[in-house]
Amino acid sequence: MISQGSYLRLCKKGKLEKRIKLLYTLLESCELCPRKCNVNRLKDEVGYCKMGKELVVSSYGPHFGEEKPLVGVYGSGTLFLAGCNLLCVYCQNYDISHNRVGSVVGEEEVADFMLDLQRQGCHNINLVTPTHFAPQLVKSIEVGAKKGLTIPVVWNCSGYENVEVIKLLEGIVDIYLPDIKYGKTDPAKKYSNAPNYFKKCKEAVTEMYRQVGNLKFDEHKIAYRGLIVRHLVLPENQAGSKEIFEYLRDLSKDVYVNIMDQYRPEGRSGQYKKIDRCTTSKEFNNAIQLAKKLGLHKLDNCQ
Ligand code: SF4
Repeated sequence: MISQGSYLRLCKKGKLEKRIKLLYTLLESCELCPRKCNVNRLKDEVGYCKMGKELVVSSYGPHFGEEKPLVGVYGSGTLFLAGCNLLCVYCQNYDISHNRVGSVVGEEEVADFMLDLQRQGCHNINLVTPTHFAPQLVKSIEVGAKKGLTIPVVWNCSGYENVEVIKLLEGIVDIYLPDIKYGKTDPAKKYSNAPNYFKKCKEAVTEMYRQVGNLKFDEHKIAYRGLIVRHLVLPENQAGSKEIFEYLRDLSKDVYVNIMDQYRPEGRSGQYKKIDRCTTSKEFNNAIQLAKKLGLHKLDNCQ
């Protein structure tokens, strides 16, 4: 049986419309993320993320490099949004996030992209860096649902979220896939200009977990609901992995965590000595051992 997106229930009850309205209201004086720029994006004023009213899509297609429970056989249906609300100096997708490479598309057209991904057999719609376009994307989901979209929706975000927005996504998003980038204030400030990152991220991830719980799989071992946390290990323990794993242990030892080793210097990382090199295998293995020691046992790397 193919898993269905939870948004279908809200759509059938006519409740998606109200959520969309509330989300668009947040665009009038933008509070979609903790930066709270309070610019009127409906009038194309731009804030920190430099994005206005229109959706900008960089690319879409089946992706086979995501976590196995998302990829399955036919791939995860990724839709890469241009721009970002966090803008880390070392972003591993610098052109898409900082340079905002992409094309302006309407909500209806994005709904057609989603339907195309479903037709190609993708197991889910994986919205990559969706935070600054939350209202438009939920509108696309509604349009898609009315035209036959049924597969689960993945919210693949940086973790720098406004918890009030996450609350509005309840029953719309099936799988939350947040990064937890920093467990300390200093690196969050230095590399992402977001000193309150960990505080805001914890609030958001706790709410995500409340909504969807631990990862659930269908009979083909494909995820259809739940939380997956990503953590990219930075050189010289700049990310503060210990604090992050301690938070996750307290949330649930059964939480699914992908600890990632692929950090490479990108963008402006050359200006910061400690992160101007790749993460070593020793640093990565230390992070894995630490997570295990704290009791986290659903590690993507060890499944
Ligand atoms: S989404 Fe963009 S404009 Fe809105 S608060 Fe965040 S950074 Fe500012």
